[in-house]
Amino acid sequence: MVQRLEALYRKLREGCSAQQLGRSVPMSRYTTLRLGGPADLVFNAASVDQLSLALKAAREMEVPVTVIGNGSNLLVRDGGIRGLVVRICEDFAAVTEPTPLPDGIFSLTAQAGASLQKLCNAAADSSLTGLEFAFGIPGTVGGAVYMNAGAYGGEMKDVLHSVTAMDMEGNTRVYTAQELELGYRRSALMQTGHLVTSATVVLRPGDEDTIRTAMREFIQRRRQKQPIHLPSCGSTFKRPEGHFAGTLIEGCGLKGFRIGGASVSELHAGFLVNDQQGTAADYLQLIAHVQKTVFDRTGVRLEPEVRILGEDAPLTVL
Ligand SMILES: Cc1cc2nc3c(=O)[nH]c(=O)nc-3n(C[C@H](O)[C@H](O)[C@H](O)COP(=O)(O)OP(=O)(O)OC[C@H]3O[C@@H](n4cnc5c(N)ncnc54)[C@H](O)[C@@H]3O)c2cc1C
Repeated sequence: MVQRLEALYRKLREGCSAQQLGRSVPMSRYTTLRLGGPADLVFNAASVDQLSLALKAAREMEVPVTVIGNGSNLLVRDGGIRGLVVRICEDFAAVTEPTPLPDGIFSLTAQAGASLQKLCNAAADSSLTGLEFAFGIPGTVGGAVYMNAGAYGGEMKDVLHSVTAMDMEGNTRVYTAQELELGYRRSALMQTGHLVTSATVVLRPGDEDTIRTAMREFIQRRRQKQPIHLPSCGSTFKRPEGHFAGTLIEGCGLKGFRIGGASVSELHAGFLVNDQQGTAADYLQLIAHVQKTVFDRTGVRLEPEVRILGEDAPLTVL
């Protein structure tokens, strides 16, 4: 594996700048939870061609590939990630001007690494409404499509028209929104393994002041109700049918419960935070403890929304 990684590093380095490629990079740098051991290689993609070349080269050299966006829904274990991490984020983040469509609606296309905030601002700049719900979600467009991110009664499914995706051999194809089978925090991409390179949303004309007021209000609500000043991945668990995870966790008396450097937020029990420089092992134990306590007391199974990647740290032999 070491030789294959070295060969892949040299191959990728031929077509990108030194800043785009790193060896043994701590994933805590690339996750909002600020957790995770080193990835063997991290490649910050800046174009479709680079993505395609990287995937083809990794396949030829039999190096496993993991795709990430802004890392705002990721828990990487302490042993890190073997192989190549392809990061589709700020280096691949263009947003087009709006295109008028029949029926008075408009489309906007964003590269997958554009932040939702950037896409929302582009929509507001053109007085287009429909994306306000997404303004405070700290992910990329690619991650938001993959997760069907949503908030305050809206979700990507409501506005998505189509995406351009790439398979692990570097071939592209277009998916309509219907083909993506978007549901609560899921998409068909979880099965196909294709990565998103760009996404097109359709929006209606609106009033810029009203759009910006709604966006400000949503941010205000987040500031009041969520521990956004602490490292987290947002809501750690999916909303169980008929319940709210945070309410169940709070009802079990777990607010403030701590394992190592990870704890249940005092402000919003649905957020498990890494508030004292914990490890992924602390965080995973906290998840397990919360799941067990909630199940024992209420019979409700909490399923993680956070995507858990990578390997446990090797055991230290004394
Ligand atoms: C403070 C806070 C608040 C949050 N609030 C919300 C909220 O209100 N609603 C909500 O839905 N989420 C929320 N989240 C979670 C998170 O922001 C979303 O899930 C977001 O969509 C993840 O995007 P990302 O780019 O960070 O993806 P990452 O976390 O990097 O990746 C998440 C998954 O998407 C995949 N992925 C990423 N990019 C691509 C791509 N280009 N192609 C294919 N797959 C890809 C990854 O493989 C991974 O499985 C919050 C998180 C935080 C930290």
